[in-house]
Amino acid sequence: MRNIFNYTKEMLENEFIQNGYKKFMASQVFDWLYQKKVYDVNLFSNINVNNREYLGNNYSFDFIKIEKVEEDEDVKKFLFRLLDGQKIEAVLMYHDYGTSICVSSQVGCNMGCKFCESGRLKKVRNLETYEMVQQIILASEYAKVRIDSVVIMGIGEPFDNYDNVMNFIKIINDPKTMAIGARHITVSTCGIVPKIKEFMNLGLQVNLAISLHAPNDEIRKKIMPIANAYPLTELIDALKEYITKTNRRITMEYVMLDGINDSEQCAHELSDLLRGMNAYVNLIAYNETNNIEFKASSKETIDRFFDTLKKRGIEVTVRRKFGNKISAACGQLRSKEM
Ligand code: SF4
Repeated sequence: MRNIFNYTKEMLENEFIQNGYKKFMASQVFDWLYQKKVYDVNLFSNINVNNREYLGNNYSFDFIKIEKVEEDEDVKKFLFRLLDGQKIEAVLMYHDYGTSICVSSQVGCNMGCKFCESGRLKKVRNLETYEMVQQIILASEYAKVRIDSVVIMGIGEPFDNYDNVMNFIKIINDPKTMAIGARHITVSTCGIVPKIKEFMNLGLQVNLAISLHAPNDEIRKKIMPIANAYPLTELIDALKEYITKTNRRITMEYVMLDGINDSEQCAHELSDLLRGMNAYVNLIAYNETNNIEFKASSKETIDRFFDTLKKRGIEVTVRRKFGNKISAACGQLRSKEM
């Protein structure tokens, strides 16, 4: 039985029609689930008993569960237990301009980025669409806030779970569900080139972020195995094509690792690599964990790197750090629990 939160409205309409039910019932179901927030099919009072029976017999309305929440003043980190007992995380953050949530797309991750806590636990399986949708519903209900923006940057590589992630984006973007504007949704990839090309042809206005983390292949291969499959020249060519086709700016995520990718020379190489591209660099202070060999760059080094990029004409920001007191690094809460 497929979970009802796996469905875009269009998918549900098609399935109803195929089974001899009215297309309109999909709008009613969506209204109960996403507007009235009623999840018991027996309470769908404007749908007749026979149709409710059909829904109950053919769709699951089950929910994943919140297992644990760690809180700091500007952040809530959720550990969820899935129906098969697997665990994933999501992080809700409070900004001046609203709330954002970072959701997971897989249980574990096979991309093996060396600095990443999530990547230490190999991929067990892809998340189904409903498991991504429900991270938002549960976090929003727990915190009693509307979620304004969504980043798919938690555990997992979204483009390694492409179809489910695309359906997830369509659902949360639907004005009849959560109405999260496409420009408030960001999907982050470590650089799976064929999927970037597929994504650009969808014509969505969703933001794309690339986990770049190095200015050349030599360093990138040391910290990100994906660089062996798709060298930087291929990646950058695909991104230039993406920018031309979509007219959208790309975010380049760059985690600052002490002595690895934070030298003055790296800043020069990075600015040469990105010159003329409609992209900006988001420098990320590394969240040190107990298990891993990497250290965070000092604040002075980050400032110097920032200044060099800026002077060389590259748009750059430093990502604000959330939740110093909690297990804020992606995957940290889950790996602590395992
Ligand atoms: S950084 Fe992202 S892609 Fe790389 S191992 Fe971690 S979760 Fe996977």
